[in-house]
Amino acid sequence: MKSDVLIIGGGLSGLSTAVDLASQGISVLILEQRPHLGGRTYSFIDESTGDAVDNGQHLMMGCYHATRWLLSTIGSDHLATLQPNLHIEFLHPDRGRSSLHCPALPAPLHLLAGLMRLRNLSLADRLKLLRVGLEIRKNPREIEPKIASLTVHQWLDALGQSAENKKYLWDIIAIGSLNDDPKEVSALLFYRVLRSAFLGSREDSSLLVSRVGLTELFVQPCVDFVRSRGGEIMVNCGVDESIFDGNRLIGVRGSDGQIREARAFVSAIPWYAASPLFSNAGGRQGWNVNGHLQPSPIVTINLWFDRIVMDQEFVALLDTRVHWVFNKSKMYGSTVSSRQYLSLVISGAASLVAMDSRDLVTVALEDLSRVFPRIRGAELVHSLVVKEKRATFSPRPGVEEHRPASKTQVENLFLAGDWTDTGYPATIEGAVLSGRKAAEGVAKFLGR
Ligand SMILES: Cc1cc2nc3c(=O)[nH]c(=O)nc-3n(C[C@H](O)[C@H](O)[C@H](O)COP(=O)(O)OP(=O)(O)OC[C@H]3O[C@@H](n4cnc5c(N)ncnc54)[C@H](O)[C@@H]3O)c2cc1C
Repeated sequence: MKSDVLIIGGGLSGLSTAVDLASQGISVLILEQRPHLGGRTYSFIDESTGDAVDNGQHLMMGCYHATRWLLSTIGSDHLATLQPNLHIEFLHPDRGRSSLHCPALPAPLHLLAGLMRLRNLSLADRLKLLRVGLEIRKNPREIEPKIASLTVHQWLDALGQSAENKKYLWDIIAIGSLNDDPKEVSALLFYRVLRSAFLGSREDSSLLVSRVGLTELFVQPCVDFVRSRGGEIMVNCGVDESIFDGNRLIGVRGSDGQIREARAFVSAIPWYAASPLFSNAGGRQGWNVNGHLQPSPIVTINLWFDRIVMDQEFVALLDTRVHWVFNKSKMYGSTVSSRQYLSLVISGAASLVAMDSRDLVTVALEDLSRVFPRIRGAELVHSLVVKEKRATFSPRPGVEEHRPASKTQVENLFLAGDWTDTGYPATIEGAVLSGRKAAEGVAKFLGR
C-alpha cells in the first residue's frame, strides 16, 4: 500500500513529523537505516547492571514548548518533571558550592533575584550580569543584526562581562546549549537561547528532567502512537537513492532494493546524509550546507559505585573537564540504595573524544574526587563511555544564513532535522519543532 507521506529517518524530528501527521489521519511510513529508532536521542539497557543508559544525558527546559506538546500528545509527559523554580547547583573544587536559584517571583524578576544571589561571583560582577539581562530584553530586530557575526565571548566582552562571569556562569550555559567553545560559537544563537529561557514565563526557565531513559520517554511512545493510527515504521532500511521526475520526488530506493512511492516526502536525516542523498535534484534541492556545518562531539562517562557518593540530583562542575554530573539513581528513583549510578557529561568534547575510554574514566574520577570526597572510599564497580562524535553541529557565527527552510524547491519534499532553520541550536526542541513545521507543510501540500 502506498503511504501519503514517506519520512526518511526515525530520529526525533522524523518521529515528531509522523506523530503530527498521524494525529491528522494522514498515513505515514518511516524508513530508518539503523536497527533502533530515536537517532541521537535513545537509550539502551546496559547488560551488566540492567540500567537504562542514554546515548547521552539530555536536559530540557520549560521553554521547550514543541517538545512538551510531543510528550503530552504521546502520553509521556508524566515521565518528565519540571522543576518548580529554576535551580542549578554549581560545585567548584576549591571555591565550594553556589547555586543559581530563581525564587517564585514573576519573570523576569525571578531571574534577577537568582543572579543577585550567585555567591561564587563578587557583588560588582553580579551587577555586571544585569547588562546582559537588559540586552536580551531589547527588540530582536535591533539586536540580532548587530551580533550576527559575533562569538559568544565577543558579545559578552562588549557587554562588559568579567572573566569570572564568563567562566562561572555564561560559559556553562553556552557550552550546555550550543555544545562548543563559547570563544567560537554564535552570539546570536546564545542570545536566542537566553531569551526563550528567561524572558517567557517563570516555568520556561525551569529544567525539565526525564525520570526514565530516552527510549521510554520519547521513542517507544512515538512508535506506539504512530502504529496505533495505522502508520508504518521500518528499521534497518536506509534510503540509498532518490528518484525525481522534474520538480517532483516520485520515489526512494531503500537498502532492501525496493522503490517506495508516496505523495509527499520528508527528509528527517542529518545534513551530512541529506546533501548526498538529494544531490541529483538538479539544483532544485535549494540548500547547500557543505562546509558551513561542522559536527561537535559529546562524551558521556557512566560510572557505577558500590555506595552513595553524591546526594544531589545533578550538579554543574566549574573549572573541571567534566561539565555536568547526573545522579541517575536519584533521577530514576532507583530502589537500589547500596550502589549509585552517575552519568558525567563533557560537551564540546573535541579535545577529549579521541581519548581511550579507560583514560576518560580516569579523567572523570579525578574530577569527581575533587568535588565529592566520598569517591575516595568508594569502589567503581562498572563504567561505560559513550562517545557521540557528531552529537550536534557546531553553531559558528553566520551559520543561520545556511540553515534551510522546511519547504524545498522540490514541490513534494520537505526538510526536518535539528540542523534546519529552526532558530535554535541543535536541540531536542529544534528537532521536534522542525518535525512540526515539516508536518504543517506536508498537510498543506496534501490539501488538508
Ligand atoms: C550525547 C548527546 C547529548 C545531547 N544533549 C542534548 C540536551 O541536553 N538537550 C537537547 O535539547 N538536545 C541535546 N542533544 C541534541 C539532540 O539529541 C538532537 O538535536 C536531536 O536528537 C536531533 O534529532 P534529529 O531527528 O534532527 O536527528 P537524528 O537524531 O540524527 O535522526 C536522524 C535519523 O536519520 C537516520 N538516517 C540517516 N541517514 C538515513 C538514510 N539515508 N535513510 C534512513 N535513515 C537515515 C539516522 O540513523 C537517525 O536515526 C544531544 C545530542 C547528543 C548526541
